[in-house]
Amino acid sequence: MGRCQTLAGGRYGVAENWEIVKEKMAVFSRRAGRNPEDIKVVAVTKGVEVSKIEEALSLGLTCLGENRIQEALKKMPLLPEKIEWHFLGRLQKNKVKKVIEFFQYLHSLDSLSMGKELEKKAQDKNKKIPVLIQVNLTGRETQGGVQEEELLPLVWDVAQLSHLELRGLMTIGPRGGKEQEVRKVFSRLRQLGEEINRNIPQVALQELSMGMSDDFPWAILEGATMLRLGRAIFGERGK
Ligand SMILES: *Cc1c(COP(=O)(O)O)cnc(C)c1O
Repeated sequence: MGRCQTLAGGRYGVAENWEIVKEKMAVFSRRAGRNPEDIKVVAVTKGVEVSKIEEALSLGLTCLGENRIQEALKKMPLLPEKIEWHFLGRLQKNKVKKVIEFFQYLHSLDSLSMGKELEKKAQDKNKKIPVLIQVNLTGRETQGGVQEEELLPLVWDVAQLSHLELRGLMTIGPRGGKEQEVRKVFSRLRQLGEEINRNIPQVALQELSMGMSDDFPWAILEGATMLRLGRAIFGERGK
């Protein structure tokens, strides 16, 4: 095993990748007349080995995202405690307790029954958890999220749950979509947030979690406040 192989394997590229991401964030923020510092990056660590995650932490990336509870729980004890863990995946009732216990942010709320379950577990733990409601704007069934028509009623109901802090909306863009198609989805999410803020006085949504490795520049142009980036930072995931 030569030195080059080690370099190419374990430590390749996280710092360089992050430089490229920051540069793109700067360029597209400028184009949108925005400040890149208003955009939070959640580094998505699914399928990523601990040494690479540590490298990301050393670069100042301290918000990490996972979409599977079991995988996340294995990593957490190996990493420092100051991390803010974001749960991005499909919620299951029997995992809600773990979400409340081990995560500090939830991006994927998409039903009232799950909202009530979270409320109950959060109350038990005497915690409050910031949440985003996930909206499915592509009609693709493999994606989670409420349909547009279900969003307003869900917002009303979630606003009544005192241990959930409703902060905003999340969506996943159409995978492999062209610029126009993807931007339409992101711009629709922003409009929905604005409509909610106009129509429901007790909520003030501020966050739009949209944009992944392949489409985050367009998300910035459409007002994203949180980007969820896996491959752009860590490289391709092992299968
Ligand atoms: C995996 C995942 C991401 C990151 O995907 P990349 O394409 O690697 O940036 C973002 N959001 C969710 C919900 C994910 O599951």
